[in-house]
Order: sequence, then C-alpha cells, then structure tokens
Amino acid sequence: MTNSKENPIIVVGGGIGGLATALGLAQSGKNVKVLEQAPEFGEIGAGIQLAANATNVLRRLGVMDKISEVAVFPKRLVLMDAFTGEELSALDIGSVYQERYGAPYVVLHRSDLQQSLIDACVDHPNIELVNNQQITTIEEAGEKVEVYNANGEAHVGEAVIGADGLWSKTRKIFSDDQPVCSEYVAYRGAIPMEEITNVANLDDVIMWIGPNMHVVQYPVRRGELYNQVVVFKSYQYRKEIEHTFDWGTPEEMDEVFKDTCDKVQTAISYISRQKRWPMYDRNPIENWTKGNITLMGDAAHPMLQYLAQGACQALEDAGYLADMVKKHENYSEAFEAYQQERQPRTAYVQTSARNWGEIIHSTEPITTLLRDTILSKRTEQDFSFIDQYHGYNKVSPVEVRN
Ligand SMILES: Cc1cc2nc3c(=O)[nH]c(=O)nc-3n(C[C@H](O)[C@H](O)[C@H](O)COP(=O)(O)OP(=O)(O)OC[C@H]3O[C@@H](n4cnc5c(N)ncnc54)[C@H](O)[C@@H]3O)c2cc1C
Repeated sequence: MTNSKENPIIVVGGGIGGLATALGLAQSGKNVKVLEQAPEFGEIGAGIQLAANATNVLRRLGVMDKISEVAVFPKRLVLMDAFTGEELSALDIGSVYQERYGAPYVVLHRSDLQQSLIDACVDHPNIELVNNQQITTIEEAGEKVEVYNANGEAHVGEAVIGADGLWSKTRKIFSDDQPVCSEYVAYRGAIPMEEITNVANLDDVIMWIGPNMHVVQYPVRRGELYNQVVVFKSYQYRKEIEHTFDWGTPEEMDEVFKDTCDKVQTAISYISRQKRWPMYDRNPIENWTKGNITLMGDAAHPMLQYLAQGACQALEDAGYLADMVKKHENYSEAFEAYQQERQPRTAYVQTSARNWGEIIHSTEPITTLLRDTILSKRTEQDFSFIDQYHGYNKVSPVEVRN
C-alpha cells in the first residue's frame, strides 16, 4: 500500500457511514479523501436511535463525548398499542443495558451526529472532505482506482469505498439489482419541545404499533426537540405510480390513523406534511468487494428502519473496515476479510428488519394475539431478543485513537 495524500483511500459519500469510515481509516494512519455530492455535508431534520453496537464504535472513534453533550439517554424502549393506548412491552435501556453492552443507547438529532463526525474529520490532518462531487463512474486502473464526477473530473486513489447510500452508484460494479419498494412511507421531523403536549413519557422511546402502521417518538438535542416518525403502508400504491407523489399522501395518513388513540392522534397533528419518504431496502447480495473496491453502509446493505439498525450497521462496518485495513498487507485481503465478517451479519439484520416489520404491522388477528401474548410475558430486563444486534463486539476493543 502506497498511501499518501496524492494517493489516498477514496470514500464516495459523506453520510454517517462515509464520515465514520474516513475517521476510522485516518486513525489507522491512512490518508482519506471523502467525495460528497451535496454542496454541504448535512442531514435531514429528524432524529436517530443508536444502540450500543453503534455507540461502542463512536466511542472508539473518539466522538462519543461530543455526542453525549447533545444526545438524550432514554430509560425505556416501549411498545404501545396505537388503538387501545395500552403498553404492550418495554425494554430497559438505562444503566442495566449500558452495563450489559458496555455502551449506552442514545437518541439524537441526525445533524448533531453528522456535525460531531464532520468536526472530527476536519480536525484530522489525514482527511480531506470535498463537496459538489457527484460520482458517476469508478474504474480500476492497474493498482489504482479512478473515480469520475459528473463533470468528468477524475480523482485517483489506491482504493475506493462506496458509502453512497441506498441509490449507490458504486454498487453497480457488483450488482444490477434495484431498491425494493416496501409500499410504506414515512413522515418525520423534530419540533420544539414547548410545542408538545399529550406525550406518554419523555424518558422513553415510544413505538406505537398497529396494522400496517407505526409511530415512533423520542426527545433529541438535550431534550429541546421532540422527534416523531409516522409510518404507514399506502393502500394507493401501485408499481406504475411508484416514482410519483400519488401514493402515501397526507390524506391517506389521516385515513389510516383515524381510529387511533388520543396520543397518536396528537402525534399525527404535529407531523409535517410537506415531505414524505418512501421506504426502500434491497435484497442482500453475496459479494460487494473486488480487489481494492468495496462497499459499506446502505450502499452495501440498505435495510428497513424497523429495528433502528441501518446506521448502527454502517458504524459497525466502519469500525471493522478500519481494523482490517490496519491488519492486512493489501486492500484486497483487507476488504475480503471485511466482507467475510460483515456480509452474513448485515444480510441477517436486513432480513430480520423485514420480519420485524411484518410482526409489528400484523393485520392477522391470530398473529397479533400471539405477538401481544409473547410480548406481555417479557420482563423489562429480558435482553434475549436484542443481544444479537446490540451485543456485537467484533470491532477491536474500545480505545480512543488520535
Ligand atoms: C425513517 C428512517 C428512520 C431511520 N432510523 C434509524 C435509526 O433510528 N437508527 C439507525 O441506526 N438507522 C436508522 N435509519 C437508517 C439510517 O438512516 C441509514 O442506514 C444510514 O443513514 C445509512 O448511512 P450511509 O452513510 O450508509 O448512507 P446515507 O446516509 O444515505 O449517506 C450516503 C451519502 O452519499 C452521498 N451520495 C449519494 N450518491 C452519491 C454520489 N453518486 N456521489 C457522491 N456522493 C453521493 C449522499 O448525498 C449521502 O451524503 C433510518 C432510516 C429511515 C429512512
């Protein structure tokens, strides 16, 4: 490896995954260039949940102290029935959780997470961040890789990591698959806490569930904002209109939620109707690595958000990738070892997220009855379901690298 500022590792995409990857690699001594299509690095105005498998990596990257200043540390993760208003089940995500997994569960504003990562990248002498770089083509050139933006300008590096999200261009090197539309849409946003009334409990992350729909609520930014995500399956969806705005409309949202309990009705009344997010994932692919090119995060394994694990898995990738690049002599060995560990795990989480969606959105009375009976028998400190996700410990031991 002849890594230098002129011959860096190129990361395509400066989202949560790309920035964390850049930081991990730089802390392993590599020079890294991040190419982001947007004119500025930024995130949407909504919240994100990060479980211990993610905060463990953030701590190792040295950004957890910054994040702790702006995050909220919730005490319980609670499932509620959106119609009866009854609590179905709860999970302790406070001190017992933290002791079990060696790291906290946090909820925060996406832009606060993004800013912490950007600040750490800007402070690191080995990282160059470049905006306005919409990457269209990636070509192998002997031992190097050439990356072209939409203006035809080239960046040359010794390796490329595609961190360009769900609609990844880099992924085309490995697969001609397309994102799979779930027929669900999300409306989301964070509003000032003083505008909020009729909330169940500000110490909780609350998920209201019902047939073909759910609502998630939690505070962010030191408790100054309240984040809400409203998700439902569109009964107007048809393949022919998938790329239009004619399905998943605010009117459908009103119809789907019209008989829900008071607190859910209040949540719906607060949600911004200006923008909707159609929800996509992809089927897992077996291979996303070739020589000195690989993928990470949503570019490699986009998943539905029902387990709140998409960004967590991207952070696991970032930590493990940095470890492998540090350990191996050349990129092809490092990337192969990375894929060998990460592909089965992320494919499993992708599939589990779909399954969990089927369970929480159940429309079958028998499935719903079974679900609610099983959930009601759990104790708040029964971690058996989440151990497999939150307890991941393959990333090298916690250490703050400078
Ligand atoms: C409603 C919703 C709620 C969610 N909640 C959670 C949660 O609570 N917890 C959790 O862990 N996950 C959650 N997720 C998933 C999480 O948001 C994603 O998994 C995560 O953002 C993936 O990060 P990424 O960096 O891989 O991709 P992205 O965040 O998509 O970033 C990709 C970056 O690449 C850039 N880019 C794209 N194409 C190009 C190109 N051609 N050239 C250059 N740059 C390019 C983009 O501009 C972007 O900056 C949620 C998702 C949704 C939709």
